[in-house]
Amino acid sequence: MSEEIKLLRPFTGTGCVFFPLGLPPKGTCEFATKKCLTECYAIQEKFPHYDIELAIPEEEKHIIYDYIIKCSVKWIVEKMVRELDGLQTPILHWFGSGDCPTKDISKISEIIKTLNNYSITQMGFTRNFELWSRHRDIFALTIENTKNLPETNGGEIFSIPNYRKETTNMYCPVRDLEVTACGSLVCKDKRDKSREHYINCCACKSLRMGCFDRMEKAG
Ligand code: SF4
Repeated sequence: MSEEIKLLRPFTGTGCVFFPLGLPPKGTCEFATKKCLTECYAIQEKFPHYDIELAIPEEEKHIIYDYIIKCSVKWIVEKMVRELDGLQTPILHWFGSGDCPTKDISKISEIIKTLNNYSITQMGFTRNFELWSRHRDIFALTIENTKNLPETNGGEIFSIPNYRKETTNMYCPVRDLEVTACGSLVCKDKRDKSREHYINCCACKSLRMGCFDRMEKAG
């Protein structure tokens, strides 16, 4: 297999997996709502200059997706670990765009479990409830609001997009609180303004903010 393809792309201080946008079979957003199909930040035709990292052509995302779905878990994991080293970040970010379709849950889950054998941090966003259920300590489940929240064990984190403001609010069910507003330029701790920082997941990790603002490890 070619070493040329890069499975991970730099994004907010992480190495990020970008999957194709839109409903299957064209894209991977199987659980997209009507609203996110029309208002998601990732579907913009032209990104602001500071968001050049998001301007990945859809054809490239299809190539990344095909590699991840068709190649062996061992090859993918070893390549991702090398790429994170090259990007000089310990964080692997799932789904800067797109999502995990139902048919790919086992493969993605196997990759996540194998990556856990390395000293890297995984985080990310999904609307795929089953994937989230299997990896609650890694994913924020994206939902529209806090009505009908799934049962939680305390450590989960949810992501509630605000399309108008181009932010995502990270919701902690134990505190019954939106703890962080993430995007588009900065990440704001809603309880402590002094912790605001340029959007960067490594900063969030060290401050235990945003996706890392969990009460305890979710199993
Ligand atoms: S909340 Fe923080 S960790 Fe989560 S995506 Fe935003 S910058 Fe990254």
